[in-house]
Parts: sequence; structure tokens; C-alpha cells
Amino acid sequence: MQISINNLVKEYNGHRVLDVGYLNINKGTILGIIGPNGAGKSTLIKIIGGLEEATSGQVYYNGKKIYSQKDITVVFQKPYLLRTTVFNNVAYPLMIRKEKKKAINNKVNKILKEIGIENLKNQKAWTLSGGEMQKVALARALIFRPSLLILDEPMSNMDPSSIAIMEEMIKKINQIEKTTVIIITHSLQQAKRICKEVVFMHKGKVQEFGSMKEVIFNP
Ligand code: ADP
Ligand code: ADP
Repeated sequence: MQISINNLVKEYNGHRVLDVGYLNINKGTILGIIGPNGAGKSTLIKIIGGLEEATSGQVYYNGKKIYSQKDITVVFQKPYLLRTTVFNNVAYPLMIRKEKKKAINNKVNKILKEIGIENLKNQKAWTLSGGEMQKVALARALIFRPSLLILDEPMSNMDPSSIAIMEEMIKKINQIEKTTVIIITHSLQQAKRICKEVVFMHKGKVQEFGSMKEVIFNP
């Protein structure tokens, strides 16, 4: 999915926290959003993801103002899980689409195995550690095959080997499915590993936009 943003403004109680004149996010990119706390990163992705309304301005999805719910998935730092098992959480998007039970089983088992959490399959979501919950939320997002995947620091509670697995999966889904990925990260190392482009935000504005090399000075 290709996204373009036009004069997007968000104000809370008259206080302007987001002011993005123009931003084009190409289909098939992996865009990193970096910048200090309070820069407006979360606000921007919530508006793109349809979870928050802009005060003014527009987001265009493939040139249109509307998009289908099934096209976009947002994963937060604190994942939202259903009060059920890991299996059901990951299977949920496929159940909604009324896929056959056997196909659901196969797909869920495959992704749980890839991410290395098949042993948690029957465990209730609320008994998991923070990092495990994030893995479940990411498994569900990846099985959903959205055309836009938005990630708000989704690996902040994971150990390095889990992070490496998740980064590989994000790269894979981007390559194979041409999924557009937008990821907020505090790790420049992570941005370097997976992002094709980055945006540096500060005080609600896009200060820099370009390739990692253009935005980050690293002698
Ligand atoms: P970041 O994700 O870069 O840390 P945010 O988008 O979360 O930044 O926040 C940008 C600014 O907007 C901050 O000053 C924050 O306090 C403010 N803000 C975010 N959400 C709300 C809200 N619901 N009500 C009032 N202010 C908010
Ligand atoms: P994060 O740093 O992970 O983006 P925050 O602590 O900034 O999380 O925000 C958590 C929630 O609180 C978000 O839904 C955000 O919109 C809201 N929020 C952030 N700042 C404010 C604020 N100043 N007033 C009210 N709500 C806020």
C-alpha cells in the first residue's frame, strides 16, 4: 500500500503535537520512524492506522481517502491480546475470514514454529511474559497478511535472539508479500538492519526523510 500525507495536523486542547506538510510512503518500503519522546511518532501512526482522527489534513491510501480494515494492522509496544489461548489469538484473523479449520491449523502452527513459540500454543495470553505477548501479537499481525503493517516498538521487551527472528520475518513478509511496513524504533541499529528509509521526527514535524545514509551521520 502506498501512503501519502497532506498537511496533516493534530492538536490536543489547542496544542499542536503533529504538523506534517507532505510525506510520501512508497509501496513496499520499510519506513523507520525515529525521534525523541513526544515527537509525535505514535500520534502519526495512530492517524495513519485509523485509530485517531486528525484535526485537519488528509491521509491517502493508494490515492484514496478510504481503505478496508483488512488492509492495515497496527501492533503496539503493549500488545492487545484476546482473553484466550495463544493459538486462538494468532488464529483470530483467519477465523474472522472463515477459513477452513485445517488451513487455520496449518498456518498457525507454521508461524508459531517459525517464531519459536509453539510450546506456548495452549497457554492463556494473560500468563505470558511481556516479550512472549509481543511475539504473539506479531505472529497474529504476520498471519493477517495486511498490505500495510504498522509497528510501534514491537520488540522492546524481547531478547536479542527473538529480535533477530522477528526482524527476519518482517523483512521476509516485506519481500515476499510486498507489504509496506512502518516501524517506530528507538534503536538506530535496528533501523539500520531493516529499514529502507527513515523519517526523523522532532516537535511534531518531519525533520528529515531519506535513506538511512542520508538521515544518519555515521562516519
Ligand atoms: P512519541 O510517540 O514521539 O513519543 P506521541 O505522539 O505519543 O509522541 O506524543 C506527541 C505529543 O502529543 C506529546 O507531547 C504527548 O504528550 C501528546 N499527546 C499524545 N496523545 C495525547 C492525548 N491523547 N492527549 C493529549 N496529549 C497527547
Ligand atoms: P508510548 O511512549 O508507548 O507511545 P505514551 O505513554 O506516550 O506511550 O502514551 C500512552 C497513551 O497515552 C497513548 O494512547 C497516548 O495517546 C496517551 N497520551 C500520551 N500523552 C498524553 C497526554 N499528555 N494526555 C493524555 N493522553 C496522553
